[in-house]
Amino acid sequence: MRDESLLERLTQIWGVAGYENEVRNTIRAEITPYSDELWEDAVGNVIALKRGNGENKKKIMYAAHMDQIGFMVKSIEENGLLHICNMGWNWAGSAYNERVIFRNGTVGVVGCYGPIEEAKNSIEKLFVDIGAKDKADAQNMVKIGDCCTYHGPYMHLAGGQICSVALDDRLGCYQLIESLKENSGTLPNDVYYCFVVQEELGCRGSQVAAQQIKPDIGIAVDITPAHDYPNDLTGSNKIGAGIGIKICDPSVVADEMVVSVMEKLCAENGIPCQREVIDRGGTDASSINLIDAGVRTGGICVVTRYPHSQSSVVSAEDVESGIDLMNAFSAYDFSQQ
Ligand SMILES: [Zn+2]
Repeated sequence: MRDESLLERLTQIWGVAGYENEVRNTIRAEITPYSDELWEDAVGNVIALKRGNGENKKKIMYAAHMDQIGFMVKSIEENGLLHICNMGWNWAGSAYNERVIFRNGTVGVVGCYGPIEEAKNSIEKLFVDIGAKDKADAQNMVKIGDCCTYHGPYMHLAGGQICSVALDDRLGCYQLIESLKENSGTLPNDVYYCFVVQEELGCRGSQVAAQQIKPDIGIAVDITPAHDYPNDLTGSNKIGAGIGIKICDPSVVADEMVVSVMEKLCAENGIPCQREVIDRGGTDASSINLIDAGVRTGGICVVTRYPHSQSSVVSAEDVESGIDLMNAFSAYDFSQQ
């Protein structure tokens, strides 16, 4: 990989949706030397512009979200256990018995009121145990409204696969950073690298970013669920089979011109790719698509096993292919269309 230590570092930063400050600070420090313009807006998006010099230049916006899923404390029991609610979509079965960490470093374990089988997917049935002996003890460590998220190391599986917390979507942040670093400033298009907030709560940051930029083309850079393992065999997404080019998800239909340019560039540059279709979930492409008079939209997606868990798995090669595709797309002269 180009700079795996950066990807690892990004995954290990705490950044639950709505509370992206630590992620934002790291990204700002990383990209400032490479940006022609860099700004932060009121909701906390970080936007870096690298100007192009083509006669018919387009405004290309890439969006990767800084936030990760987690849980918020909504009440504290007399016995010191914490009632939680969702910050983004969580699967109770995945959270059960897992380790979580709060922003202040307090750690805990997710438990269930009764058998997990009976919890179905109700987060109401889960609690967090931080080891407190009673309510007052818990309140010394955690307040109502504090958030926690999955806690665990970045590691390698066989076959060039990476397993980590928060790959959704620090992996996209990593891809944007690397692509920005490789943008020489001599490309035909103005390229906006947007590190956005609160995707997991309904693609909020990307909408605000797109309204400021008014891009000609908006691309979400994110993960997408795999269909190549027994958990879900209902589609064709396969890890290690190339970067996913979004065709359609329940929230957006990718623009046909965008898809055809991406496929052409992958063929011309030998970038492994696959057509990505999912019938659950969505990305920031949805909100970018529908601002103002509309934006041509697409997605660059890394196929991921065990998404929205503490142990998501991706292929390092797919991650790198995504950066290669971004670079080629940023350099494309769209006046040919
Ligand atoms: Zn995501």
